[in-house]
Amino acid sequence: MPAAPISPGEIRRLAAVQKLRLLGTPAEERFDKITRLAKRMFNVPMACIDIVGEKLAWLKSVQGFDGIEGLRKDSYCHYTVLDEGVCIVLDARRDPRVHDSSYADTWVFYAGVPLHFEDERVGVLCIGDTSPRDFDTEHLEALSDLAELAERELHVAALSEAQTALALSNEELEMKARIDVLTHAWNRGAILEIIAAEQLRVASGSSTSILIIDIDHFKTINDTFGHPAGDEVLRIVAARLRASVRPLDAVGRYGGEEFLLVLPETNIDGAVRAGERICDAISQTPVEFGPDKIPVACSIGCATFSDAISDDVDALIQRADRALYRAKVSGRNRVAREIAVPAIG
Ligand code: GH3
Ligand code: MG
Ligand code: MG
Repeated sequence: MPAAPISPGEIRRLAAVQKLRLLGTPAEERFDKITRLAKRMFNVPMACIDIVGEKLAWLKSVQGFDGIEGLRKDSYCHYTVLDEGVCIVLDARRDPRVHDSSYADTWVFYAGVPLHFEDERVGVLCIGDTSPRDFDTEHLEALSDLAELAERELHVAALSEAQTALALSNEELEMKARIDVLTHAWNRGAILEIIAAEQLRVASGSSTSILIIDIDHFKTINDTFGHPAGDEVLRIVAARLRASVRPLDAVGRYGGEEFLLVLPETNIDGAVRAGERICDAISQTPVEFGPDKIPVACSIGCATFSDAISDDVDALIQRADRALYRAKVSGRNRVAREIAVPAIG
């Protein structure tokens, strides 16, 4: 059977989604703040901001749910971007719109408010619960107020051009290939591409620094508290990294318990200062996991693109890695900078 034609309204909506340039991009603190607040305010296990594409609902910011995208046909948010706007599902198992969704047995309650961009409903702020609950006018007003805050953020182009371009280079169904599903940061391949793109920009006269961040004694965390606790530490560390840097900076998961940050327009002194801020942010508060309070710290190595012509990405990462090694052997929970190589001649 041929696919149903897309309505003119949906074509306009999808054009606005494309223009927004957020499909396929990683989590950002400015949206995470809003979903965290929604989750607490309504005392629900799940809150998220979805951008609704043609086939996928992209989870731009999500609390309390594992995953980065959902098929639009399963997503309740599909109904929130349709003509009726606000969508309330009091009991998914009995709701004719969503009772056959793969989420219906898990997310029994749902409330979603559309997010507008260029007068189109491009996305949704929603909350979900595992059992039915009431949702009155006051609740709807509160959720709509939060949605307005999220809408304002949609109008700010905060990501660096290198990040936006990388997200745009993907087909909708392949977007996930660039994102680390556990931490919602860029994955290793993506963050390396972002460094390469920034290097080209450095050639035009600005500077870019990178930070390699390695969690201290992470194996002991896994061994003491269990692998799921280790996973939660990785999620929280990623969130603290996002909260410690500018939206322009790119956060990637480089390997198991290592992250790589790319800071455009930042020299080595700026990178060290950012690193110190990050060390404090990571170690200040233990990570809560069930009854456990897990102390966490990290070591950081910094390096800067110095000369775009003779420098390459591998050499830059090696320099940051050597600095990281010095941070580890000199006591951990600290930052080290690359050692400048004296000019020959
Ligand atoms: P150091 O302070 O020297 O960095 O020691 P460390 O224990 O952090 O480093 P090591 O490289 O010995 O251990 C890293 C551990 O990270 C080993 C590996 O099992 C674990 N790991 C890698 N990926 C994941 C993951 O996705 N989840 C969890 N829970 N653990 C992971
Ligand atoms: Mg390591
Ligand atoms: Mg480690």
